[in-house]
Formats: sequence, structure tokens, C-alpha cells
Amino acid sequence: MRLTRFTDLALRVLMRLAVAEEDLPTTRDVAATMEVPYTHTAKVVAKLQHLGLIEARRGRGGGLTLTPAGRAASVGGVVRELEGAGDVVDCDGTVACPLRSACILRGALRRAQEAFFASLDPLTVNDLVAAPTGPLLLGISGGSTGAGRP
Ligand code: SF4
Repeated sequence: MRLTRFTDLALRVLMRLAVAEEDLPTTRDVAATMEVPYTHTAKVVAKLQHLGLIEARRGRGGGLTLTPAGRAASVGGVVRELEGAGDVVDCDGTVACPLRSACILRGALRRAQEAFFASLDPLTVNDLVAAPTGPLLLGISGGSTGAGRP
């Protein structure tokens, strides 16, 4: 299974914010650290705010921060939410597959997709920034760390 670029970028944003403590990064900072376009990052940030996983603090020293729910969020839950419930194969595409009403493979692929999500369920966003990832993120973005906090 292949994640969409949107989901991958959302996980990168969450990881970046998971290592920020006092130096709240802006959307532009996160985009620069992750070497992705600002416009893509802004869309991801808006979605993560909508889901209550991150919030923006205004004013001096303001920026993006992970909410407690965001830090404790299950990676499997985030991926499910962002990827949606669609099948991994488009059986009803422009020309519908003639096997779709009685296809064993279709059911097997659905189970495999769920197993993929389930394997990510035990991991939290905070788990993703344990060493060596957290220190590497700090090295490329600068600032103090909240990595590994309960
Ligand atoms: S073979 Fe099965 S899984 Fe593949 S497109 Fe056809 S119905 Fe879907």
C-alpha cells in the first residue's frame, strides 16, 4: 500500500511539531525544514487543525503547536482518517472489472489494507520522534525538544 503525499506530509508536520517546545515553528518553517512547497504544507496544516491535532498560537513567539490529542494520536488513526476508506484497487474504474461481484481477491485486499492500518495503531505521534528521528529533526530544524515526553 502506498500513502498519498498528503498523508505522508501530514505525518512529517506532526513529527516536526512533536520536537518543538519553545520555538514554535510557522507553516513556512515546517515547509522549509521538510523541503516541501509552502502551499502543500498550508493545506495539510489546515486539515490537521480541523482534526484538532495541532493548533496555531498567534502573537509574539506564536506558531504551530501539537495539541495533547495530537501528541497522543495513533499513527494508524491518523493514516485511516487521511487516506479514507477507499479500496486499494479501483474495481469500478472507467471500465468496471467483470469480477467485482464475486471477487475473492477484493476481500483479501481489504483485509490486507486493514492489517496495514492496524500495524500502525499502537504507534503514537510521540513515538515517532524517539531517537534517532527526534534528534535528527532537531538537527535540521534547530530548537529545543519535547521529544519523548509522555
Ligand atoms: S480482480 Fe477483483 S480486486 Fe481486481 S479489479 Fe477485479 S474485482 Fe477488483
